[in-house]
Amino acid sequence: MQTEVVLLQRLHLDLLLSQLQAAGYQTVGPVVRDQAIVYDRIQSTADLPMGIGDIQGKGSYRLRSRDDAALFGYVVGPQAWKKYLYPPRQLLMRAEQNSRGLQITAPDQEVPKYAMIGVRGCELKAIQIQDRVFLEGPYSDDFYRERREQIFILAVNCTEPGNTCFCVSMEAGPAAGPGYDLAITEMLETAEPCYLARAGSAKGAELLKHCNPSHAPATLLEKENALWTAAAAQMGRSLNPEQASAALKSGYESTHWKDVGERCLSCSNCTLVCPTCFCSGVQEVTDLAGTSSERWREWDSCFSLNFTLTAGRPIRQSPGARYRQWISHKLAFWQDQFDQSGCVGCGRCITWCPVGIDLTSEIEALNALQTKT
Ligand code: SF4
Ligand code: SF4
Repeated sequence: MQTEVVLLQRLHLDLLLSQLQAAGYQTVGPVVRDQAIVYDRIQSTADLPMGIGDIQGKGSYRLRSRDDAALFGYVVGPQAWKKYLYPPRQLLMRAEQNSRGLQITAPDQEVPKYAMIGVRGCELKAIQIQDRVFLEGPYSDDFYRERREQIFILAVNCTEPGNTCFCVSMEAGPAAGPGYDLAITEMLETAEPCYLARAGSAKGAELLKHCNPSHAPATLLEKENALWTAAAAQMGRSLNPEQASAALKSGYESTHWKDVGERCLSCSNCTLVCPTCFCSGVQEVTDLAGTSSERWREWDSCFSLNFTLTAGRPIRQSPGARYRQWISHKLAFWQDQFDQSGCVGCGRCITWCPVGIDLTSEIEALNALQTKT
């Protein structure tokens, strides 16, 4: 595998995209839609959000114009890559009553082959966390596996973290860790950005060969290193995962949950934007004659009142109890379950919470309350 760092220009990125498309990949990446950066199909670098950045804060997100031609000069938006590997709606099976009796069939769907362009370090780690949920243990998920086995990941190392980011605390960035096929760093030294690229797999190395790339000069490598160091120092927030886990375990009965419950709308935004959340529900959809039905899996959330409907009533009735469940699983019990945190510090749940609830501040408040008592 090629591990050297090479220098690419924008035309090389277009060449990589066409090579991926020729190999049968659907190339998906960041695009501007409805005043946000979301992930959708892209054909070439012309579809990327050139010269667009964003400003994020608690419950706020705005696009801004940059004064350069950066293609990847934004922080993560409201969508996570999970929508490609674990779609919001998935047909599980069909059942039909006919002259031969009840016929159950598995969906005959073509499995898309995605090349994900612009995956950040925190997002790559989130995919690896979902891998553990969907692929490990006695009940792995074939729908996820089929998609996951054929993706191509082009990661983009982050050099400008946002105000709600804390990936450094969660050891998930700013540079992408292992698991990518190709990783690039966008360098904005000149009017036309250039890219330092590394292959992380044989597929990535093979693809790079088509660009006939030149070696990256040492001066650019030094600058890249300085950018990563600066990015790590510019995180908008921080969290100590061990302290958070301890505070949550000892603060189960804290009065703080009542306080959060008075602010939380139970809207589920935080779970839907979170790249690691994976809860779902199952819906049966029958035809009017009652002779056939489809079973669909749909994203659900631990903030939905009926998510824990048991023996006719929900177990977690108050918003505070539901918030406690979410944050405790994410930052404490996930650790016990998977030996790692369920949070990668992407900050989406902070940005997209309509009332600005920030899990790092909630941990601080819980800690402060426990110190006082
Ligand atoms: S809990 Fe919030 S910060 Fe952590 S991974 Fe999920 S959305 Fe990102
Ligand atoms: S914490 Fe915020 S985003 Fe999450 S359910 Fe409550 S109000 Fe909605």
